[in-house]
Amino acid sequence: ARDALVLLLDAYGIDPSDPATNWIAGNLVAGKGETITLLDPVTDLPLLTYRDAGAACVSEAVSAATTAQSEWMALSASERGRRLQAAARGLAGHEDELSRLESLIAGKPVSDCRGEVAKVREMFEYYAGWCDKQHGEVIDVPTTHLNYVQRIPYGVVGQITPWNAPIFTCGWQLAPALAAGNAAVLKPSELTPLTSVLLAMLLEHGGQLPAGLIGIVNGLGHTTGQALTAHDDIAKLVFVGSPETGQRIAEAGARRLVPSVLELGGKSANIVFDDAALDDAIGGAQAAIFAGAGQSCVAGSRLLLQESLLPEFTTRLARAAEAIPVGLPSDDATRMGPLQNAAQYRRVHELIDEALAQGATLLTGGKPPGDLPAEAAEGYFLAPTILTDVTPEMTIANEEVFGPVLVVMSFRDEQEAVALANATRFGLAGAVWSRDTARALRIAHQLRAGTVWVNSYKTINVMSPFGGLGESGYGRSSGLDGLREYTLPRSVWVET
Ligand code: NAD
Repeated sequence: ARDALVLLLDAYGIDPSDPATNWIAGNLVAGKGETITLLDPVTDLPLLTYRDAGAACVSEAVSAATTAQSEWMALSASERGRRLQAAARGLAGHEDELSRLESLIAGKPVSDCRGEVAKVREMFEYYAGWCDKQHGEVIDVPTTHLNYVQRIPYGVVGQITPWNAPIFTCGWQLAPALAAGNAAVLKPSELTPLTSVLLAMLLEHGGQLPAGLIGIVNGLGHTTGQALTAHDDIAKLVFVGSPETGQRIAEAGARRLVPSVLELGGKSANIVFDDAALDDAIGGAQAAIFAGAGQSCVAGSRLLLQESLLPEFTTRLARAAEAIPVGLPSDDATRMGPLQNAAQYRRVHELIDEALAQGATLLTGGKPPGDLPAEAAEGYFLAPTILTDVTPEMTIANEEVFGPVLVVMSFRDEQEAVALANATRFGLAGAVWSRDTARALRIAHQLRAGTVWVNSYKTINVMSPFGGLGESGYGRSSGLDGLREYTLPRSVWVET
């Protein structure tokens, strides 16, 4: 893996012995802070070391972004749209390198990474189209005034993202921020620093964007991240990550009266009624939790089955889970790779052990898959895991595991299904499976969640709003709602 990484970095002019992991004012810049070592999720061996960006790099990036944002807004809206379209085209020919780099560092199957890189391009194309369509409005006030409302950008926004879908999440937040007329300084997870830097470089070059319009600063949360949230010139904070850190980000924003959008975790319910198309529901339940090795904020981690479906459904689901090809992320046939990092691996095992101690039954999984290559013996692999005999008060039924662990609970009727589904601090997503459309919609409309699927799971599109409630956060990403988060209304009164 280390050799493959060195070749990829070389191709982009990044020295693997002292990698420049920041993109500031249109330049690759190395950090000057403490050394951070990335471990290979497949082998647990060192993959790369780099240095924390720290407050000085953050200041340089914000300062360059401030200048670039003025240049950006000096262009016409349609010219900004053209440049963002060109920026999206700037990724052409680099998809394979970006996907392989993402796969190496994040430990994700390369086929998943290809899909996510393609989605980044779609995000830029979609939001580029919005640039010249963000009209204000005229309010019919009962006075002698003309009152009109403009949508104006915040200026420089600060974005902080996690490790589970690094390049996807960067594109997801950068595209609307820029389309709304902002510059952005983004801090990726310290565990997955590189694809975001290449993304910024390719976008800025491809779109001839003002140098510094995108700043990427890589480093730790309590140093680089904290410097970004505390910077006086950051006008809005957008955070994707855990509820605990989200709270800190919102507090840092509150100290400066800067608003935030928080995209946090989940414990989403997947409800299957006995009148569901069972083959589809089994496929859906499996993909809902095991795609991305469960390291997905919308993972369908609680399977709620109508009583009569037990035990046939769980038996068939276990067989399907055992058939998932778990293996090396670089292998095209792999559908599930390792967990991304050692801390996450330990946490997932602790939660499984606690569930078993509290009375849950291990139906399948709970250990590494049997047929891994020797080199992966120390990697963070866990076979798809299903726990039955889970009760709502158990820790595993309430905490986000962020791993390939499904808990199964049962319900008798609609009322109990809704009560169980909503018995969570989170509110990110959920799904209902039934052939009775009226019933499915009746249930869907009672779920306390920002996204609800009927007879499917995890379908998302950049055109549609996404976000949560409760401990899943607030504000929206994607679609027009996601764009609006990056603008402010300015009301102008003209005496006539
Ligand atoms: P995390 O909260 O540990 O870290 C997220 C980011 O915050 C990282 O870049 C980290 O360096 C930074 N950070 C940490 N402390 C900070 C501080 N004091 N100041 C500023 N920045 C700080 O989350 P994670 O472990 O990287 O990611 C997993 C979590 O992300 C899960 O809870 C998952 O559900 C959530 N997530 C949510 C969504 C969504 O859209 N709702 C999407 C993906 C992941």
